Amino acid sequence: MAIFIRNGLIVTGDTAGTTFDPGGVLIEGDRIAWVGPQADAPAGAFADHVEVIPADRAIVMPGLVNAHMHSNESFEQGAYDNLPLELWLLRSYPPFGMPVLTEREHYLRTMVCAMESIRSGVTTVQDDLLDVAVTPVAVDGGAKAYMDAGLRAVVTVAMWDRPFLDCLPYLREIVPADLAAELDALPPVKAAEQVALFQRHHEAWQGHAGRLTIIPAPSGPQRCSEELLRAAVDISARHNLPVHTHVLETKTQAVTGQVFYGKTLVEYLDDVGMLTPRFTMNHAIWLTGHDIELLGARGCSITHNPLSNMKLGSGVCPVRALQAAGVNVALGTDGTATSDTGDIIEAFRAGSLLHKIGSHDPDDWISAAEVFRMVTLGGARSTGLQDQIGSLEAGKKADVILLDRDAWGFIPLHDPIRQLAFSATSECVRTSIIDGRVVMRDRVIESLDEAVLKAEVAETAERFRRDYFPAMQAGADRVEPYVRRVYDRCTGLAVDVGHQPQRRPPLGG
Ligand SMILES: [Zn+2]
Repeated sequence: MAIFIRNGLIVTGDTAGTTFDPGGVLIEGDRIAWVGPQADAPAGAFADHVEVIPADRAIVMPGLVNAHMHSNESFEQGAYDNLPLELWLLRSYPPFGMPVLTEREHYLRTMVCAMESIRSGVTTVQDDLLDVAVTPVAVDGGAKAYMDAGLRAVVTVAMWDRPFLDCLPYLREIVPADLAAELDALPPVKAAEQVALFQRHHEAWQGHAGRLTIIPAPSGPQRCSEELLRAAVDISARHNLPVHTHVLETKTQAVTGQVFYGKTLVEYLDDVGMLTPRFTMNHAIWLTGHDIELLGARGCSITHNPLSNMKLGSGVCPVRALQAAGVNVALGTDGTATSDTGDIIEAFRAGSLLHKIGSHDPDDWISAAEVFRMVTLGGARSTGLQDQIGSLEAGKKADVILLDRDAWGFIPLHDPIRQLAFSATSECVRTSIIDGRVVMRDRVIESLDEAVLKAEVAETAERFRRDYFPAMQAGADRVEPYVRRVYDRCTGLAVDVGHQPQRRPPLGG
């Protein structure tokens, strides 16, 4: 199998920002064999067995990396609004009334994200699959979906083992005894069982089809025992795998670190050995200056999720300060019930805009070119695939997308990256090649029959909405007044966010 992408505007996405116009990309098997100016194309590009993809009217780029999302939220797209994280969590991951799904239902739910991903130019997804029931079928269903869709995926086995009432400060003090007893009667799965489940998934799926990675993901330090966190560190070191966790997404979490551990959550994670170059911290908003220094000194990554951070009112990630400290920054959509989309171009645009309203100083602002780096090489590094993906370079995996140079957003063509951020929509993504295989051609999915899939997804999703969703919300309603009080108390407290750029004063004064 060989493919020659001929005569395109090639944006290699390498560290030097090399482009070729016109240029070509030669793919042999699952690898890029050659990238360069069209005039220098090697003889192998013109051999009889090579499929030629004309790119005269295309912008050719490395496939994009969505470094943080939760496909398990896909049947809740558009279900919520005006909820901060702590209250939103109660609805999407309710303590009572969470449905136990079949493998096929998990598969179909992940497929919503998989299709939105391919259609927006994503070739690698980091899917933090959160299955409250901790059943093997969640990861099995998700993994099968990615394999059938043709995507490259880094699927997590999510972990948490602290009782619900002990994951938030002050909550146990205010929940009535009868409700507390009911909640405590639903104990989380023990750390050892979760580690065994990880081993099972790792043995079953790691390296599958050359496109799948299975990694551990403690949901958040405040939701895990120290034993479980140390087990995740050990797994990551033993198998040389990335480890992802949610940290300091909200002000409540900044308070949590002080109440639970007498230090910041980043300092606590450093104590348990989590901060290594394999570690990615999702969100990373409510950081102290010392937290940022620690993350930089330990060579960690973070994922920036601007859509979700705006929708949940979480805050603005201090990307410039993190970059200055040497922290690798990747880009994510976050889950399909907080962003609510798997369309990475939407996150690319949001990330390129958001920081400009956070500060008066344009030096704090994050450019489209910087966000492009996050969604390519930054994401590759966060998923542990930096030698494999993230740029069009000979020897790397053949994950390539072709954008329509005649899309309205590219006319006239000043700068393909800026116009992808500010002008074009994901409709401009025409063709996607993943692992050397054409997965979408001229916006037709080739890996499966999308119409048949969509019919089954729609029917299953509607059943979820009708039969499961009301119980989830009813379960959330019972606990919400108490969590709301915790949220109000935490947001009223002062926390150290010394790193933040100077805030704009309120408008209109
Ligand atoms: Zn998340």
